Amino acid sequence: MVSYCPEEHGFEKKVPCGDDKQRYVCRDCDWVHYENPKIIVGAVCTWENKILMCRRGIEPRVGYWTIPAGFMEEGETAEQGAIREVFEESEARVQANALLAIYSIPRISQVQMFYRAEMLSPEIGIGIESLETRLFDWNEIPWNELAFPTVKWVLDHYQQSRELTNFAPFTVPADQVDWLAGK
Ligand SMILES: [Zn+2]
Repeated sequence: MVSYCPEEHGFEKKVPCGDDKQRYVCRDCDWVHYENPKIIVGAVCTWENKILMCRRGIEPRVGYWTIPAGFMEEGETAEQGAIREVFEESEARVQANALLAIYSIPRISQVQMFYRAEMLSPEIGIGIESLETRLFDWNEIPWNELAFPTVKWVLDHYQQSRELTNFAPFTVPADQVDWLAGK
């Protein structure tokens, strides 16, 4: 746990004054350590109707296919983060052209934001966190080897909106909401 308190200060879990949730609060100076969801950013990237996918080289789900995505960093916008993750995992240069989906996933305390992006060239490489990268035609996508449920959703949502220029970002499919909330 990160804090700005000296090491000798200890934390206890309690409800701070004026709050209604349990937090880690410093015993000495009342500094409150808030733990909030993490933001994942990524993109469905295309080149001439082919979709860029990466086979994961790191846990969890080593060897399974995903679209490039990862944790947003401080000091960047969500869109910049998505473009950076794409390059890190596949060495592809892309331009984001729409916010495709926002999935709130309370079960794992994440908000996942996916963009629709066009590749600026067909050149790809294999990033350090990937075993393999490939451009797939829609009917070649390895549906039985996808790393996470959100990869399937975002690909489906991409397919549903690929001809549209104006649309609202997709959210978690209705039949998945309770599962995602851990209910
Ligand atoms: Zn303190």
